[in-house]
Amino acid sequence: MEQFTVQIEPLTPLWTGDAERKCSTLRETGIIGSLRWWYEALVRGLGGTACDPTNSKCEGKHHCDACELFGCTGWARKFKLEVEIDDEVEIDDEVKNDDEVKNICEIKIGTREKRKVRDKDKYLLRETKGIMPKSAFLKFFPLREISEDEWNLLNNTLYIISNYGALGASTSQGNGVINIISNCLPHSKPPTTIGQLSKKAQELPQLGDFFFYKFRLEFNKNILELIKKKVFWTHSEKHSGYKENWQSWIDVWDKYKFLPIAFHIRDSIRHLENDKDKRHEIFGEAGRGSTVFVSHGYKISKNTSENTVEVRIYGYDKENIGSKIKDKLNDNIKDKLFSLSKYNSYLNKCYFDM
Ligand SMILES: [Zn+2]
Repeated sequence: MEQFTVQIEPLTPLWTGDAERKCSTLRETGIIGSLRWWYEALVRGLGGTACDPTNSKCEGKHHCDACELFGCTGWARKFKLEVEIDDEVEIDDEVKNDDEVKNICEIKIGTREKRKVRDKDKYLLRETKGIMPKSAFLKFFPLREISEDEWNLLNNTLYIISNYGALGASTSQGNGVINIISNCLPHSKPPTTIGQLSKKAQELPQLGDFFFYKFRLEFNKNILELIKKKVFWTHSEKHSGYKENWQSWIDVWDKYKFLPIAFHIRDSIRHLENDKDKRHEIFGEAGRGSTVFVSHGYKISKNTSENTVEVRIYGYDKENIGSKIKDKLNDNIKDKLFSLSKYNSYLNKCYFDM
């Protein structure tokens, strides 16, 4: 069978979710679901048709442009996807447990305020979880003819994910930033830029209505040193029973070069919308997903300074939230990033990079 491979490298943990909340592997269905979500949003932005998969009327030959490639009832997906993880971990005496073998990361951060659980107000834990393999291969096997336009759209989808967005699940909480190492999909056209997409607002996500930002956080010390000084905020001082886990911060920075601050970023921007209902609509609440996505801080490339990380923030531009974030992140971030205000000066600057 013909095979086209895309090799990706995670910059923040990848998560495709499963019922047991274990994450030792990348599930094909999780990757396909994420690719499809971006592909649909791109197709809509380009003026094509993409149904709402949760309420689709597409069936058999009567289907939208997205179902044409990804399938629907009575119309099979045009390709099969296999995901292979390149772990490259040397199993020796140093490796003590399974988590290290599988490159699993797990970090817990407390909530800023108490939340109601079964009528009791409690501080809760927010988890960063996922795997950080050295790289992963996404292998596309065409099962039926895929048109040149469809290859181009799929390529564009991957380009947008790797340059502006994220792949997989938990992407509103830091996960899924990837870099494409190599891409062997057949394609011919240069990638679409976000500016080329239409701005016609729709109910369903369409990329022309999105904002896509990257910010750089530049500290005035080596990040490892700051982690060892325990300057970052991890929990409220009233949160009894919280167990410090600085070693996991050290481990993920040392080994994977990301700083687990997605919740800090979320906490810095959430209250930019004052109206509670609108805030829940934009940032999500129990049972409703966020329409704003943020990444952890990740090192831009291997050779860049040990003082600087990049953070992605993107999403539907509802209630002008995009420009509020752009204007205000810099003012708000310090108080959320550090545990004490005397540490605020460790952040040299936070600046908009795209
Ligand atoms: Zn459809």
